[in-house]
Amino acid sequence: MEYRDNMEQLAEALKDMGMASDEETIWKFRRYMERILEWNEKVNLTSITAEDEFVTKHYMDSVSICAYSQIKDAQSVIDVGTGAGFPGIPLAILFPKKRFLLLDSLNKRIRIIEELSWEIGLENVEFRHGRAEDLGRDKNCREKFDLCVSRAVANLTVLSELCLPFVKVGGWFAAYKSGSVEIELEESLRAIGILGGRPEEIKRPDMKGFELDHRIVFIEKTRKTPEKYPRKAGTPAKEPLK
Ligand code: SAM
Repeated sequence: MEYRDNMEQLAEALKDMGMASDEETIWKFRRYMERILEWNEKVNLTSITAEDEFVTKHYMDSVSICAYSQIKDAQSVIDVGTGAGFPGIPLAILFPKKRFLLLDSLNKRIRIIEELSWEIGLENVEFRHGRAEDLGRDKNCREKFDLCVSRAVANLTVLSELCLPFVKVGGWFAAYKSGSVEIELEESLRAIGILGGRPEEIKRPDMKGFELDHRIVFIEKTRKTPEKYPRKAGTPAKEPLK
C-alpha cells in the first residue's frame, strides 16, 4: 500500500504546483517505474531500487522544475545525459504538448527507455544515442531548444559546455544540482560567460511533504555560443574551461 500512497503524494505535490494529473498520467508514472525496476534487475539503470525512494529521488526531483516559468514557457526541451530518463521522462509525461529530446552516450540505456516510453504511450519524445559534444555541433540540434535540462552528469563548468550550445538565444539551461551549489556556480562563472550564458538564480524547489536537498541553477542564454564550443568529445571534462 505504501507504493500507492507514494503515487497519491506525487499527485498532491503536482496539484500544489498547479499541475493537474489525471488517472492516465499517474498510470504512466506508475508503469514507467515498474518497468524500469524490472529492467534494472538485468541492466544497471538506477541505483535506486525501493519504490518510495524512486518516487522521491527520481520523480519528485525531476518534476520540481514545474513551479518555474522556464519549463512552462518552453516548447522544446533537451535532457542531456538522461540515463534512465531523468528528468526528461517525468517532464514529458506531464507536458504532452512540448517536444522532448533525450540524449545519452550509453546506447543500451537509451534504447531501453525508448522502448518503455513507447509502452506507456509517450508521443512527444525522441531519443538519441551520442555524446553531447558531438550533437552540440549538429546543425539540427545546435541552438534549437528553448530549454536544456540536465541532472547528475558533470560539474557546472563541464556541463555548461555540454548544454549551453543546444539552447537558443533567449532560452534557458537548468542544471539540477545538490551539495555546494553556490561554490560550484562561482567556479563556473567564467566558462558560462564564454559559452554565451548568464546565471539568473539558484532556486530551491519547495516540494510539500518531500525532503529534497536539491537546487536548480537557471542560466539564461544571452549570446550565441562561439563556434569552437563544444570542443571534441572528452575535452570539456579533461580540460575544463578556466
Ligand atoms: N540524468 C540521469 C539521472 O539524474 O538519473 C542520469 C545520471 S547518470 C549519473 C549520468 C548519465 O550521463 C549517464 O547515463 C551517462 O551515460 C551520461 N553522459 C555522461 N557524459 C555524457 C556526454 N558527454 N554526452 C551524453 N551523455 C553523457
